[in-house]
Amino acid sequence: KVQGMGNVKEEKILVLVRLRPLSENEITRNEVADWECINPTTILYRNSLQERSGLPTAYSFDRVFRGDCATREVYEEGTKDIALSVVGGINSTIFAYGQTSSGKTYTMNGITEYTVADIYDYIQKHEERAFVLKFSAVEIYNEVVRDLLSTDNAPLRLLDDPERGTIIEKLTEETLRDWNHLKELLSICEAQRQIGETSLNETSSRSHQILRLTIESSAREFLGKDNSTALAASVNFVDLAGSERASQALSVGQRLKEGCHINRSLLTLGTVIRKLSKGRHGHVNYRDSKLTRILQPALGGNARTAIICTLSPARSHVEQSRNTLLFASCAK
Ligand code: ADP
Ligand code: MG
Repeated sequence: KVQGMGNVKEEKILVLVRLRPLSENEITRNEVADWECINPTTILYRNSLQERSGLPTAYSFDRVFRGDCATREVYEEGTKDIALSVVGGINSTIFAYGQTSSGKTYTMNGITEYTVADIYDYIQKHEERAFVLKFSAVEIYNEVVRDLLSTDNAPLRLLDDPERGTIIEKLTEETLRDWNHLKELLSICEAQRQIGETSLNETSSRSHQILRLTIESSAREFLGKDNSTALAASVNFVDLAGSERASQALSVGQRLKEGCHINRSLLTLGTVIRKLSKGRHGHVNYRDSKLTRILQPALGGNARTAIICTLSPARSHVEQSRNTLLFASCAK
């Protein structure tokens, strides 16, 4: 059994907030931007009416990013250290959480690419070790897990493996040849990802997506002789379904059912994260949703976790933005 070398200590969850700029559409509609990052850790709600309502106006996190920050900056100053700990054998998970159209996919796409580019860079500089990179991708839609690298749409089962924990049966795992191969696989995932139309955003995603990059390495001089220098770990990039309540979208029939399931995964994630952030030992309810079951080895323990909460600055989204910041505050 290959193990990571990290010390088993409880890592704090890194909580980042990223504000996006007003979109062209919002500007055309004369939307007002009410949120402002006043320093690197504080975001402020500036609306005189709200200020009188007694609701909090300032929120603090590990780091907040202004609307005009590039994803590169979010990566460098936010998630880079956590994601790159994978080369040292430490599992990690980077989440994007927020309402539909707040910038989750935009943020995760960039961060995934920057991370992989840096991992390839690291590999080139460490010729003393032999590396194998593997990539897999799943979507969780309605608590059903599907392989995003397969055209077969069949639901995948989760199995309990005594050695490896939860494994996904029949999941495609591609061994990466190079950077271009990854780009190819990412575009396959994008094409496969189920897209539901809601009243909020035509290309809104009602599913959770987990991209997993697994890195195995061992010292070349011991290759095939001695396994003791072997390391293996995964970094997970999780683009969560929109956090808005099902009732906010046009929740009829199928949509309503989806909403409940999406909430189940998000709610379970919320409780898991809250427990982990308190450093509480004892029971963590990973098994209550597919999302948390799949991610269990990369949450808690000595795994490293970052949550990027994406926020629309628009006045009309204030309720959802507050919900997002509430979730973010619970994760601190
Ligand atoms: P989500 O995945 O949360 O539904 P998207 O990532 O699709 O949201 O973003 C919605 C739209 O806003 C997209 O057109 C995207 O390109 C744009 N966008 C999101 N974040 C930013 C940002 N930080 N800067 C510029 N444009 C952004
Ligand atoms: Mg999206």
